[in-house]
Parts: sequence; C-alpha cells; structure tokens
Amino acid sequence: MRFRCSRCGEHHEGLPDVAFDAPFYFYTVPEAERERRCTLTSDFCSIDNKDYFIRGCLEIPIIEHRELFAWGVWMSVSDVNFNRYKDVFDDRFQSHVGPFVGWLSNELPAYAETLTLKVRAHLRDEDVRPAFELEPTEHPLALDQRNGISFEKLQQVYEATFHDTSQTARGTR
Ligand SMILES: [Zn+2]
Repeated sequence: MRFRCSRCGEHHEGLPDVAFDAPFYFYTVPEAERERRCTLTSDFCSIDNKDYFIRGCLEIPIIEHRELFAWGVWMSVSDVNFNRYKDVFDDRFQSHVGPFVGWLSNELPAYAETLTLKVRAHLRDEDVRPAFELEPTEHPLALDQRNGISFEKLQQVYEATFHDTSQTARGTR
C-alpha cells in the first residue's frame, strides 16, 4: 500500500500493523502511580490487582487485498481467565483454552467509541497472539472485521496513527 498522506503531503508506504503498548486504562493512571499500581508486560496488564487485560490481534481483511491488517490491541478479562492464559502462555499449544470474553480496551484511531465493544479471544498455538473476534454488531469496526476495510478507511487509520499527537497507537514492522 502506498498513498499520499493528506496530513503531511508525503507518501507513506507499506502495511504496518498498528499496536498499543498498553490498554487505554493504563494511561488513565497518573504516571507517578503506575509503577506501584500497575503491572505491564508485552502481553499482560493489571491495574490495582482488580482490572486485568491481555493483548491480542484484531485482524481485519482488506477489501481487494490478499493481506490482513492487524491491530495489536488489549481487552479486559476476568482474573480467572487472566491466570488461565498466564498458565499456558509459554506452551506451544494453548488453543484448547478459552475462548475468553471481555471488552476492547483501546480507543482506535479513526473509529468512535471502541471501548464499548465486546470481544471474544481465541488463544492460538505456535506462539501467535490470541485472535480477537468482535461481537457482530453494526459498529463500523465490527463491520470492517466481517466485511473488510476499504483502502480509504485504512488510509485514515494510518494518517491518524502517524500524525495525531494524542494517539498512543504506533505503527509496527
Ligand atoms: Zn503523513
């Protein structure tokens, strides 16, 4: 994918995934308190030993494109499922565990109100992060996961990711 960016006028190339290093709620904890109140790794986050999150892949087909676009995002899970995932995290086979149900826990650029979306997480084998499947609602993100994202919409996602300074998302790869 190559497009001329409407924000900076440059050409952006490639199909980077867009990922978040932490769930939205992590950033709502004042920075000075994070070390005391939060634990955060590349795949697990807990806040106040009360709220638990795991990271997964929200994969979106691109219309008329063979590749998938992937969001690296977080979802809330129960403490029970958090620990079940931790227990099998280093195992080669883990798809027999779950699925887990929770809420999407990042605000995705170029979409509104994504924190209210229900997610089902399917653990996967061979060291691949869990697949996040959105509840099949009429929310634009859920529609895009089912029907594919248009090139134009993906361009908006990249422009917001690369240029909105309020964004915690970043392009990867
Ligand atoms: Zn740009």
